[in-house]
Amino acid sequence: MTFAADSHSETGSGEENQDLALTGPDWALVLDGANPPAGVDVGCVHGVAWIVGRLGAHLHDRIREGSLRDVLRSAIRATAADHGPACDLAHPRSPGATAAVVRMNGDQAEWLVVGDAAILFESTGGDVTMETDNRMYELPDPPDTVEGIRAYIDRYRNKPGGAWFAGAVPEAADHAYAGSRPAAGVRRILLCSNGITRLTYRFGYGLPELMAFAAQGPKPLVQAVRAAELDDPDPDRWSGKRHDDATAVVIDLP
Ligand SMILES: [Zn+2]
Repeated sequence: MTFAADSHSETGSGEENQDLALTGPDWALVLDGANPPAGVDVGCVHGVAWIVGRLGAHLHDRIREGSLRDVLRSAIRATAADHGPACDLAHPRSPGATAAVVRMNGDQAEWLVVGDAAILFESTGGDVTMETDNRMYELPDPPDTVEGIRAYIDRYRNKPGGAWFAGAVPEAADHAYAGSRPAAGVRRILLCSNGITRLTYRFGYGLPELMAFAAQGPKPLVQAVRAAELDDPDPDRWSGKRHDDATAVVIDLP
């Protein structure tokens, strides 16, 4: 089964967009570069946007080779091979990305997420469900100092019982969340970075409201996020950037 997919991505408050959306005739993906806090060394001379670009290209090149876990594992290996000798891929803070991937396979819509990128499915009956990976927010005792963050990342990043990212560790593919559902029961799919899902956890929108914006297209959805951010009466209550990179792919199934 092929489908119609439309994507839109906007840079946030940072200087470069570290999100990436790619679509094919029967697959789509969104990547969101995971930035370490300022002042934390990562053992890599490449930027996060470079990692995201390489990972996207390698996922594209092998999107039909085996299961989606196989595709991700192989793409992470290929991305790791693109680094030069100046990079230490065993570094616990080696840069990576969150990922959301959808692929049609026969009568099934297959999906995979690692990190807090998200995939929303709207059923033909109008129900909306979300697949995402919030393990990074469920770790115990989050630190609030740079030194604490460094130790925390070393303990939990890409470690069993911790939070996984697509970067230099192929085992992340085995710890991704993945599944499939009959495509006949799906009307529309939204893949997005957490710059979009902040509409829910920051601004109180429900999943059906996100899908209602998505039905108008990915650009109106991103514009809804920017409008909510600009209307925020107290933007300083949030840690991080006022505007995050925001990326959406909207798939309409036939
Ligand atoms: Zn590197």
